[in-house]
Amino acid sequence: MTAPTPAAPPPLPPSRTMSPNPLLLAAFLLLVGLIGIGGYRASEYQGMQALRTDAGHRLDLFAAAVDGIVNRYAHIPATIQLNEEVLTLMRRPHSAAGVQAANRFLQQLNEHIGSVAIFVMNQRGIVLASSNWNHPGENFVGEDLSFRSYFLDGLAGRVGRHFAIGTTRGEPGYFVSTPIRDGGRVVGVAVIKISLGQLNQAWSLLGAPALIADGNGVVILSSVPEWRYTALKPLPLDTRVEVRMSRLYNEGSIGNFPVPIDDDPGPEGQIVHMALRGSPARPHAGFAGSYLVHGRGLQDVGWRLLIFSDLRPVRTQALGHGALAAVATGFVLLLLLVLAQRRRIVCQKLEAKELLEQANAQLESKVARRTRALTDTNARLRKEVAERQQAEQTLRAAQDELVQAAKLAVLGQLAAGITHELAQPLGAMRTLSGNAIEFMKRGNLPTVEQNLTIIARLADQMGRIITPLKTFARKSPAVPAATDLAHAVSAALFLLDQRLTKAGITLINRCEPGQAIAWCDQNRLEQVLINLIRNAGDAMADSEHKELLIEVAPRDDGALELSIADSGCGLPDDGALFEPFFTTKPAGEGLGLGLAISRDIVREFGGDLRAENRPEGGARFILQLPAAPKEPS
Ligand code: ADP
Repeated sequence: MTAPTPAAPPPLPPSRTMSPNPLLLAAFLLLVGLIGIGGYRASEYQGMQALRTDAGHRLDLFAAAVDGIVNRYAHIPATIQLNEEVLTLMRRPHSAAGVQAANRFLQQLNEHIGSVAIFVMNQRGIVLASSNWNHPGENFVGEDLSFRSYFLDGLAGRVGRHFAIGTTRGEPGYFVSTPIRDGGRVVGVAVIKISLGQLNQAWSLLGAPALIADGNGVVILSSVPEWRYTALKPLPLDTRVEVRMSRLYNEGSIGNFPVPIDDDPGPEGQIVHMALRGSPARPHAGFAGSYLVHGRGLQDVGWRLLIFSDLRPVRTQALGHGALAAVATGFVLLLLLVLAQRRRIVCQKLEAKELLEQANAQLESKVARRTRALTDTNARLRKEVAERQQAEQTLRAAQDELVQAAKLAVLGQLAAGITHELAQPLGAMRTLSGNAIEFMKRGNLPTVEQNLTIIARLADQMGRIITPLKTFARKSPAVPAATDLAHAVSAALFLLDQRLTKAGITLINRCEPGQAIAWCDQNRLEQVLINLIRNAGDAMADSEHKELLIEVAPRDDGALELSIADSGCGLPDDGALFEPFFTTKPAGEGLGLGLAISRDIVREFGGDLRAENRPEGGARFILQLPAAPKEPS
């Protein structure tokens, strides 16, 4: 019965390699890039918002400073018309004493309030008196300033407010003018020039490049000297003519600002890019880059304050934040990837473990089944072995019985010869004992003694005949021992002696004691020899020349060969010589068991028995026997 073949274990999933998926890689890079750009944009937006807020505060601060500077003295000209000396001068302009008095008043007032200059003009725009009357090279007195806008405003009865560059020293200033009225009529104009030098010191408040453009869009003040007197936008023709006429900026021509600036950048501001190579002289090279421009109008003066916030730090920071966001995203994605990979590996391991356990369980059940089958087979084999041993024992017993039966059969056949052997000494003993009685009656004791001695010798002789028979007939188990082949041959020949002699067979025994020592049971060997010698005798029954040759020789492989050759009829053609019950002898003479039993006995010793015809006629039986192990000398 064969054990059922268990189902093969499910195959393990193929191990997945870590080859990067190009699509996944592209998506990964895209996501990292997008988040990097997003981070950059968000950070830039935040930075710009902060810049806007900061710029707004700074602009407020600076506007307050400008307001403080320009409005501090703005009311002064209005008070000048109240002065008696000034009014007197207006009425009598050619009075040297009047001019002197007005000059002194204006000088005192100017020194008192700390303005650049205060002066009054007549209706034609000629300066009649000035605070700097006694400053050579600066004195306005007598100058015709009718071209100035502030004069025209004052003459028109309005308050004039104008930036202008001084005609005398070319010093920029803020001019405020008011009309001088005498009895309701405008008789002249009073003007104060306020220094804007303080503003130049205030630029640092802004901490960034900044400028002030007047109502014409011309930069009148700037923390960057090169920007001064440039137009934020190209000036229209009429403005250019007016500027030239009123000599506002005292410049031959007004250049253009490095980049066009919107009139009102609005709360968001305007982003401008200053080129590195702005002009052949590279005056603005230091400001190359991007700037966020914020502006604020200065209401009272009609100016516009612009501040240029450098975008470089914002962008650098945004770049850092963008890179950080990209790196962080990449890291998080990689982390997620690693976690996913680990999870997959753990799943694979669990799967593999489960499969392994399944395979293990299957193997165990298979082993258990096989073990059960083996145990059953083992038990069956043991049983068979026991049965065979039993059969072998039975066979051996039967064989022993058979051997014994064969022995007894031989003995039976020998009985006639033995009887003959015993009959002679028995008859002699009978005669001698009868004579001894007679001699004893006659008192011839010496003869009685002589007869008894002969009787005793004869009894010994009979004993010697019977003892080998007893030994041969004994039922003994085969016990191998060192056996001298010459002794065994002699014992067999002794039992058959009578028979051979009677048949007229010439015996040639070439076995010498000590010549060949075999490892076998002598009793059994004798039985074989008796069988072979007896068969040889039978085969030579009808031969003229009857010769039995027994000799022993060692073989090359160390075994011994004992041959029994006769000059008989030779072997029958039929090859079934060693088959049980094969006999050519008439019924009652042969059983056909002798050779079969003999070969069995010899094979039991580890030897063999074979037969052949001799070339010169007759048969030869060769006994091959193992040699006895050499005794240690
Ligand atoms: P049995 O002697 O009872 O016939 P054996 O087994 O001893 O049984 O012998 C079987 C036969 O082998 C004999 O009948 C005889 O034909 C043949 N045989 C045995 N020995 C010889 C021999 N020496 N020469 C010729 N034939 C022999």
